[in-house]
Amino acid sequence: MADLHWFPCELHCHTLHSDGDFSVAELLQTAHERLLDGICLTDHNTTAGLAEASCSRAPVVLGGMEWTTYFGHMPVLDCSAYVDWRDASVDGIDEKLRQIHACGGLAGVAHPFQLGTPICTGGYWEYRVRDWSLVDYLEIWSEGSPYLNTSNRRAIALWGSLLDRGYRIAPTFGRDWHRTAGNKLISACTYLGCMGETLTPAGMKTALQSGKTVVSAGPLFYFKTERGETVGDVIPAGRSDWRFVTDCSRVARMQTENTFVPKEIRVYTNGGRMCLCLPAEGERQTATLDLEPAHWYRAELWGETDGQGGCQLAVTAPIYTQHP
Ligand SMILES: [Zn+2]
Ligand SMILES: [Zn+2]
Repeated sequence: MADLHWFPCELHCHTLHSDGDFSVAELLQTAHERLLDGICLTDHNTTAGLAEASCSRAPVVLGGMEWTTYFGHMPVLDCSAYVDWRDASVDGIDEKLRQIHACGGLAGVAHPFQLGTPICTGGYWEYRVRDWSLVDYLEIWSEGSPYLNTSNRRAIALWGSLLDRGYRIAPTFGRDWHRTAGNKLISACTYLGCMGETLTPAGMKTALQSGKTVVSAGPLFYFKTERGETVGDVIPAGRSDWRFVTDCSRVARMQTENTFVPKEIRVYTNGGRMCLCLPAEGERQTATLDLEPAHWYRAELWGETDGQGGCQLAVTAPIYTQHP
């Protein structure tokens, strides 16, 4: 199985075309300086900025908009036709999601537990999704200091309950980027796993669709099996040798003030049960797991950042095991 490349991306960005403080050109420049290979342009209810961004190669840009409604914020990416967000109802969101997918689009849930109205209109997710297989990704981390944000813990709990019900949803980080200043943890990103050495908008889309995502405060962290399977894949149950990769080189090149000291690797499975915990030592580590059928398994990296211990540094999407 060919190796994936992992590209740091920012999947949630605003510009002057909605309520952001920077122009499209300034957003692209800042993303480039932060060593991001890709961004999603997700202005509120408009794709007006995409004309200025679609030619960008560093970073590459996947176009979309953040549906900004009274009942939730939903990034919609690369939808070939306009799907009307204005009449989305709390109990009718599945139909909208089907229309988005029929137009080739992807849909995510942004900051599901953000304080809603009147602090941020519609920022809290109230839509009653019947079929969560229609949701491609969920922002389990939002804003600049993800491990300090209690609403992110609720988002991770929601994600875990959906995984337990058998839904396969990719986790993402969304800076909800509006301006250059203001976000403390500038290295946070979603790493997208793509084939080939060059990131493309199509590759970003495929990574989200196939669950090849890692949410991170900065370090690249992922695992693969001895056979080369990785997050998002469906593999046989039974004994499985895993290789964990922890790579802080991008963070080092960024020359930020943020420091990261990985301390622990944990693997979680159904019910949120921790089934492996080992000290983080070096860039490559191995462990053997005994995988149960019809389960999900995902890894987390824990450690210190900026002198503070006990921080969740990275969360991978799950790998899934086949049904018996
Ligand atoms: Zn929003
Ligand atoms: Zn937003």
